[in-house]
Amino acid sequence: MMGRQATKRELFVSVSLDEYVPGDHLLRAVDRYLDLSEFRSNLAGSYSHTGRPSIDPELMARMLIIGYCYGIRSERRLCEEVGMNLAYRWFCRLGLKDKVPDHSSFSKNRHGRFRDHDAFRQLFDSVLRRCMAEGLVQGEGFATDASMIKADAQRHRSCPGDVGIDWGDAEQASRPVREYLTALEQANPIPPVPKRISLTDPASTWTAAAGPAIFAYSTNYLIDLKAGLIVDVEASAVNKMAEVEATKIMIDRVEEKFAIKPQRLVGDTNYGVAAMLGWLVDEKGIVPHVPVWDKSEHHDGTFSRSDFIFDVENNQYVCPAGKHLRPPRSAQAKTPLRYRASVYDCQVCELKPKCCPNMVARKIDRSPQEPARDIARAIGKTEAYRVSRRERKKVEMLFAHLKRILKLGQLRLRGPSGAHDEFLLAATAQNLRRMAKKLFMPKREAELAMS
Ligand code: SF4
Repeated sequence: MMGRQATKRELFVSVSLDEYVPGDHLLRAVDRYLDLSEFRSNLAGSYSHTGRPSIDPELMARMLIIGYCYGIRSERRLCEEVGMNLAYRWFCRLGLKDKVPDHSSFSKNRHGRFRDHDAFRQLFDSVLRRCMAEGLVQGEGFATDASMIKADAQRHRSCPGDVGIDWGDAEQASRPVREYLTALEQANPIPPVPKRISLTDPASTWTAAAGPAIFAYSTNYLIDLKAGLIVDVEASAVNKMAEVEATKIMIDRVEEKFAIKPQRLVGDTNYGVAAMLGWLVDEKGIVPHVPVWDKSEHHDGTFSRSDFIFDVENNQYVCPAGKHLRPPRSAQAKTPLRYRASVYDCQVCELKPKCCPNMVARKIDRSPQEPARDIARAIGKTEAYRVSRRERKKVEMLFAHLKRILKLGQLRLRGPSGAHDEFLLAATAQNLRRMAKKLFMPKREAELAMS
């Protein structure tokens, strides 16, 4: 007999949301390791003691974590989803009848006092501290990389960078424009004129690094290689120098905040510039597992710089013919030096066609960071470096996860502070997910096996 479901309207139901959330649900695991007491106390000073109670900042933080964990980018949709999904309600500590905040008041708080108090940085730090307490951060090896994220700026709302733009009254301008003008005022030295500038988000970078030119920001990650957890994140312009500076900022900040300095740093060729290698080796004492940015190798059959031996004691190069290349007498120690062979030696040398066929005598430039570059070159030939190269993929995988699973292929917020907030929240969600999967899921599986 064909059954028919009895549709009985129950006027009163007694429901415990806890029963409806599966034991192995990701949010159950995230909830176990998330402590928002610090987040709440940090914001306490920004709320008045009188008047109508505001939306609970902890509720908004929990909603944002859901949004970034599940790739729900729109605030309006996030509010709808939290209203409909039982697991989301349970995670937000909302009962079945509790009202979900309206998306407009939700975004007002998010872009107001949360930003003023750098609340997302504090949230990221508290999650990282928990990861450290759980033994997931070793501090031995860090990897760094940057990934380009499209800005919320259309190309048709832009103009050439060398056209003088009248931004009008700065007080009346939009927040991204105000941020841009403030940064420009404080910049020292003044940044070069960009090829194109966006009128909606002027601080974003016009770049064609990944296909047709777009406006974008870079998200820079510094990760611990043990469990692939993000130990710091920084928003920057999309260019090599800005990304290198972002890595320096992150290494200093992690050392200052958590007293952790890695023994080795793993990165790609972008971080192999002389200034960065010199900073790592000479100032920080960090071993660079980074390929050297080296333009000195010749591919036309003539001698490269590596064919010359540097004699440290006498501060000179020795060429394949055994002659000496010396620096100028009035050389400054902090500027690149040009070492020159004697014209008399080169003119009569049999090796000249293979050495300097188009020059009177051979010359070699040596940067003040050359010892650091030599260290990086020597490390590049070791087995440990090959292991580091494989480990570097962990940071690339985090970027792939960020774009494909968390759906952060494009920013929704504008300006450097919008990028800063979004990158921090996404990194927090990635750390929470990873911590939950590393610690909670295996425990849960073991509990299920025992029962
Ligand atoms: S050309 Fe000059 S620098 Fe080159 S190998 Fe001969 S002597 Fe040495």
